[in-house]
Formats: sequence, structure tokens, C-alpha cells
Amino acid sequence: LEAKDEFRHKTLAMDVMRPRRSDPPLSVLTQDSMTVEDVEALIAETSYSGFPVVVSQESQRLVGFVLRRDLTISIENARRRQDGIVSTSRVFFTEYTPPQAPSSPAPLKLRSVMDLSPFTVTDHTPMEIVVDIFRKLGLRQCLVTHNGRLLGIITKKDILKHMAQMANRDPDSILFN
Ligand code: ADP
Repeated sequence: LEAKDEFRHKTLAMDVMRPRRSDPPLSVLTQDSMTVEDVEALIAETSYSGFPVVVSQESQRLVGFVLRRDLTISIENARRRQDGIVSTSRVFFTEYTPPQAPSSPAPLKLRSVMDLSPFTVTDHTPMEIVVDIFRKLGLRQCLVTHNGRLLGIITKKDILKHMAQMANRDPDSILFN
């Protein structure tokens, strides 16, 4: 019976993406308004494999996607080897960095570690299409947008859990077998 319901009511990207309604908001980086310590705090407080980069918290316009691993390594390296990089250094994912006031610390440019065209689907994309894209392109994650605003993320594991639920089985048992 439940399976039939699924066919009548197609599952969409918005039904599978995170965050869910009750979850805390998506953890994002902004392209030019965070400091090194802001980014380090985000890395320390979360365990996500990656972070979308947006123009600003208000706009939520997608700029790119950065893997946690690349972010961590770049900051560690910059702190160790690059002159003037301190906790209050501003982090830039933009192409150009505005001239810094003489008194402010050196900026940290991280555009080179960002994926400039992460895969995105709209919130109304049927999940069967999303699954197909994941399979064919071998994606690890995909971002979900609505009218150009970033809404959420779907990882490969989210899809596997979703498919397991559809098959009406214990999601964990499928994932780890
Ligand atoms: P996996 O799904 O393989 O465990 P992650 O650790 O990156 O990969 O994600 C864990 C969960 O958090 C997933 O359900 C995913 O949709 C969600 N998620 C991933 N990245 C973020 C993020 N930046 N902000 C909020 N939620 C995220």
C-alpha cells in the first residue's frame, strides 16, 4: 500500500534534501565576510564533508562548494607558511580581493580550492531523476536550489537511506552491508 502511495505522490528533491524542517540551517561559507577563525569554528562545530559557498547569508546565492578536507589543509598550510595569516584574516572565495586597510591582517584567498560549478537541481526535481544523475555522474553530493537560492544538500548516503526507506527496510542494514 505504501509503495503505491509513493507512485501517486512522487518524491521530490525537497523531500530528501537536508536540512529537514526541524533541523538547524545549512552550514555555509560566505564568499568574502568570514575570518579564518570563523571558518575554523565552523569546521570544529560540524562534521560535514563539505560546505556550500554563498554570496552572503541574506542572498543565499550559490558561488561554489568546498570540501572540508581541502579547507582544513589550506588553512593549516596558510597559517604555517603564509606571512600575515592570523585568526582575524579575512577569507576570500572571490576572484578579486578588495584592497585591505594597512592596519588589517593579510587576506586568505581560497578560491582555488573551491569547486566553481557544483552540481545543482531545483527543489521540484523528481528523485528518480536525481538518483539517475548521481549514478551516471558518480556524484558524492548535489545542491538543491529554488529560484537561484540555495535551499539544501543531498549526499550519496541521503539517497541510499531514502532508497532503503522506499524499499521499506531498515536503512542502516542496507548501508552497512
Ligand atoms: P554523508 O551523508 O556521507 O554522511 P556528510 O557527513 O557530508 O555526508 O553529511 C551528513 C548529513 O548532513 C547528510 O544528511 C547531509 O545531507 C547533511 N549535510 C551535508 N553537508 C551539510 C552542510 N554543509 N550543512 C548542513 N547539512 C549538511
